[in-house]
Amino acid sequence: MNIHEYQAKSLLESCGVKIPYGICIEDNSTAAIDSVLKVFEKHEKVVVKAQIHAGGRGKGTFRENGQHGVQVVSLDRASDAIKAMFYNTLVTKQTGSEGKTVRKVYLTEAIAVKKEFYVSFLVDRTLQCPVLVASSKGGGEIEDVAKTNPKSIIKMPIDPLLGLRPFQARKIAYLFELDAEATKECVRILINLYEAFVQLDASLIEINPLVLTEDNHICALDAKVQLDDNALGRHPEYLALDDPYEKDPKEVEAAKANLNYVALQGNIACLVNGAGLAMATMDIIQYFGGTPANFLDVGGGAKQEQIEAAFRIILKDPHVKGIFINIFGGILKCDMLAQGIVNAAKSVKLTLPLVIRMKGTNVEAAKQILEASELPLIPIDDLAQAAKTIVNKVKGGAL
Ligand code: ADP
Ligand code: MG
Repeated sequence: MNIHEYQAKSLLESCGVKIPYGICIEDNSTAAIDSVLKVFEKHEKVVVKAQIHAGGRGKGTFRENGQHGVQVVSLDRASDAIKAMFYNTLVTKQTGSEGKTVRKVYLTEAIAVKKEFYVSFLVDRTLQCPVLVASSKGGGEIEDVAKTNPKSIIKMPIDPLLGLRPFQARKIAYLFELDAEATKECVRILINLYEAFVQLDASLIEINPLVLTEDNHICALDAKVQLDDNALGRHPEYLALDDPYEKDPKEVEAAKANLNYVALQGNIACLVNGAGLAMATMDIIQYFGGTPANFLDVGGGAKQEQIEAAFRIILKDPHVKGIFINIFGGILKCDMLAQGIVNAAKSVKLTLPLVIRMKGTNVEAAKQILEASELPLIPIDDLAQAAKTIVNKVKGGAL
């Protein structure tokens, strides 16, 4: 699960990581903004930062006014900069051309920066352990640094039983060319960041940039933290960090209906019961040259209302050109599923091609329901034939 920069920084601060002082503004009224600015009245300069679940904000621009998503401004310019961000669309390298609407703005103190570094912690699947990735060339995109200056990047495996050892952290401080005092601070921050990575059940902590300040301190100016939602049982408080505006509305609706739904890029919607069957269905669509529009597992014991909800969600995706239903009737009986499909197809006045493959409990009764509905549904028993048919229908070709 992704969280905003201001939330990530607050979690990291509680783990002993130094961050600039800041307040998140969630209300764009002049009164609310002025009351926050008053807290900063002793500061000559402040930083105004759009809060979206995407990076590259500093170089990104607002579609409406061309301003950047991170701005260092004098205090008297801050109010205008904040207002120029609220409810406008920020387009960055990471948002795609559609951009993201800004609903929260983070105001922080401006730090006089001497050097910018890159630091991240994540689990490396190949090495099967946590790794620290660091570069002396921080601030920009790490992907660009990897291309232009790969020698400036270090990847350091961490023994999960021993944690990040001080000598490892010192090696990073050496890469950053810090003096003795700043090295001590850097080592402490790196060890605290790794402890935060473990304690918070994070799948990623990325600090870009971690900076050396003009007065020789180390401070995290940006923070991206991804939390592992499998750990929600240990951290129920994370639910409050969720921002539904940052999610695909279809995924939010699916979660409410207790459906496992992930939107994908293709145009064949799949409605399947069981995660394994859902994966196999996506594979076979791809095998026959189609592309799945989603992963949708209605689960073993789906109710009729859930089938209808699943149908509505699928049809909200404008890319969907055809639907493939692949169900193994067990606890979820085929006749009940068929009734759910017929109800949903009638209520949305379905015009897209719909191929249904069903096996299992009450399949004969289900076929009768589909037939009696007089809807243009295509029932096919053989999986390969069914997948081929929907791929061809979507491509507009003959069977
Ligand atoms: P993004 O990665 O989304 O572009 P950052 O938070 O990294 O956003 O900000 C972009 C750049 O703005 C940073 O690399 C840094 O140079 C500058 N910056 C960010 N926060 C501050 C701050 N508090 N003080 C001074 N400069 C900052
Ligand atoms: Mg950054």
